[in-house]
Amino acid sequence: MLPTSRSPVLAVPFPVKQSMSRLVMKFGGTSVANLDLIRNVAAHVKREADAGHQVAVAVSAMAGKTNELVDWVQTMPQIAGQNAPFFDAREYDTVVASGEQVTAGLLAIALQSMGVEARSWLGWQIPVRTNGIHGSARIEEIDGSEIINRMGRGQVAVVAGFQGVGPDNRIATLGRGGSDTSAVGLAAAIKADRCDIYTDVDGVYTTDPRIEPKARRLSRISFEEMLEMASLGAKVLQVRSVELAKVHGVRIFVRSSFDDPQLIDSSPGSTPPGTLICDEDEIVEQQVVTGIAYAKDEAQISLRRVSDKPGVAAAVFGPLAEANVNVDMIVQNVSEDGSVTDMTFTVPDGDLEKAASVLEQARDEIGFEVLQSDPGMVKVSVIGVGMRSHAGVASTAFKSLSEHGVNIRAITTSEIKISILIDAAYAELAVRALHSVYGLDKE
Ligand code: ASP
Ligand code: MG
Repeated sequence: MLPTSRSPVLAVPFPVKQSMSRLVMKFGGTSVANLDLIRNVAAHVKREADAGHQVAVAVSAMAGKTNELVDWVQTMPQIAGQNAPFFDAREYDTVVASGEQVTAGLLAIALQSMGVEARSWLGWQIPVRTNGIHGSARIEEIDGSEIINRMGRGQVAVVAGFQGVGPDNRIATLGRGGSDTSAVGLAAAIKADRCDIYTDVDGVYTTDPRIEPKARRLSRISFEEMLEMASLGAKVLQVRSVELAKVHGVRIFVRSSFDDPQLIDSSPGSTPPGTLICDEDEIVEQQVVTGIAYAKDEAQISLRRVSDKPGVAAAVFGPLAEANVNVDMIVQNVSEDGSVTDMTFTVPDGDLEKAASVLEQARDEIGFEVLQSDPGMVKVSVIGVGMRSHAGVASTAFKSLSEHGVNIRAITTSEIKISILIDAAYAELAVRALHSVYGLDKE
């Protein structure tokens, strides 16, 4: 069962002090992309098991596999003679969950060949119970007892990520990128001391190093900040996994699977390179700004001269929600004379057409005059818990962008973030400017 409150075992300081601890190790698709890489993963797992830790592993499918499976599912109805690309979501789950079944089995075989006692676990075998939303199910409960039992006897549990079993007793998948969430859920259920997420980068960076080579790896970042980073575009972790980690106090350590397993020191007290995602109180030197995230492919919609009366926002966003359009930045102006106002918000580029047609259909009820839409926007966000106690963070961003000639289209803020919508052409310039103005490129 997922513990409902923070268990004391999770409060150990990092590096883990006890001689033996319980670890969840998660490996993403690029880390298990072929048989040689799976053998490399097995070497990482063996290293931790040899160091005396109790280990459970969660794996993704081989890189590209899930895309291929999704594609097959989408193509099948048409090949079978149906015009619309509709398919049964339960069968979608049956097909796409298979990628993780393959890697879990192969990793168990690799471990056994290296003399490590191991077995694979599919979601339904544990079981990982989810709700009934096939294709993007949420974990409701994980029974960790049998895994704890076997880890106590020295067996490594290799768990297929991304999958669970729904109330209908059928396989349910957790949404793309969901094996991060499987790993964190598992860590909470077995009361692991840490959840190590092994990936193709060696941690969480102050911004995307492909855009700003001076980006630095953060040694620690708080749950809240990581949640914002992930939601606002940083692709390291699935957003839900961070939510779950925050609720259950699961400390996540993001690290690289491409470091030589033989050269890593797993002894107590050692600190391998990576980023620890943890409680704010565990971070001694808190910076005002921790990172800059960006999200591409946003579209801006502005409704001009909307009547300013109660119920208008509900009339706009209700139908969009029903049509499953994810609305993000919402800005509404105060009207001059109390009769009409403007309303601007963003949606994913891919949903722009759908959103516009939904709004046109509801035009009479909403009562707007003009619908303007602009695709190809980028949302750049400045994130840091230090903003709660420091003034002037936002004005620093605006000044810096103006000095670089970047026009701001919309702004939204929360306690710990400022998001700015700009034209895509200025995205890289804006990210670099903001990264430097907050001193993130300095050691
Ligand atoms: N294999 C799944 C996906 O590609 C889950 C994961 O990798 O986390 O979305
Ligand atoms: Mg992933």
